[in-house]
Amino acid sequence: MTNVAVVGAGTMGNGIAHVFAQCGFAVQLVDVREAALDDALATIAKNLDRMIRKEKITEADKSATLGRIQTSTDLSTAVAGVELVVEAATENVDLKLDIFRQMDAAAPADAILATNTSSISITKIAAVTKRPGQVIGMHFMNPVPVMKLVEVIRGYATTDTVTNTIMDLAAKLGKVPTLANDYPGFVANRILIPMINEAIHTLHEGVAGVKEIDTVMKLGMAHPMGPLQLADFIGLDVCLAICRVLQEGFGQGKYAPSPLLVNMVMAGKLGRKSGEGFYLYTPGSKDLVVAPTFARGNL
Ligand code: NAD
Repeated sequence: MTNVAVVGAGTMGNGIAHVFAQCGFAVQLVDVREAALDDALATIAKNLDRMIRKEKITEADKSATLGRIQTSTDLSTAVAGVELVVEAATENVDLKLDIFRQMDAAAPADAILATNTSSISITKIAAVTKRPGQVIGMHFMNPVPVMKLVEVIRGYATTDTVTNTIMDLAAKLGKVPTLANDYPGFVANRILIPMINEAIHTLHEGVAGVKEIDTVMKLGMAHPMGPLQLADFIGLDVCLAICRVLQEGFGQGKYAPSPLLVNMVMAGKLGRKSGEGFYLYTPGSKDLVVAPTFARGNL
């Protein structure tokens, strides 16, 4: 395999394109927004510069990597000659189903169609294509160039050949693949999101404060980041959406989101991206300051 396309050039898409290009693949990077493509190339260049400073790659590696990435706003043309497409567009079911219909119509019949979705059923996505056996989950972690894990998710119809190809490919990208079957949250978010939700319940019930909860998990469990800080990093709207997927998918009350999480999302407190979640985020400051609501203990 030498030619791939990455659909969606946001946070995940630019990282996925970066990793493929650095490993020698020719990459077609697609987005509906020209500005997203420009931003993606700038981010990839910045991340490659950081690797040069750390003496992990040379200037020549950087230009070769960038030289292997072509950008496009035309999905059908971009996927026409590739062996694999990794879809990393916005997490929205209808949007993804639509993209998969288009990719199925335009990509070569033997191409594999992968999705980086965090929570949408691979089986559901595969069912809108004429090649459900060639549809698979390839769930990279953020930031993609740094994080080693790729969760490979086998949909109901995914063939063993396609699964093995993607497992081998993830290893060629320098990642460690883990295989999971297609059930809500797969493995990563099925375990992570209930832990974050429980941390929010613990805060809401007044058992302990923001800093205390995060410190227990950092120092007591050797987590690099506490669950509330991690929730801010992921985005509280994303955490809530995944809670809902687990709740609906399993039909069990234990997956219901904390009312505090629901309230924070309704208030627009989405974590780092909105400037406030459990902590306050001031541009240029790296200090971890607890948001005023929680500093006052006023829930
Ligand atoms: P993002 O919002 O940063 O980027 C999404 C990009 O998709 C945007 O640039 C948008 O313009 C583009 N897009 C929208 N519609 C499109 C279309 N029809 N065709 C092509 N591009 C289109 O989102 P993200 O955080 O990069 O997430 C992308 C996917 O990766 C989602 O499925 C998400 O669940 C998954 N994911 C995200 C993370 C994370 O930490 N952010 C981690 C793992 C998986």
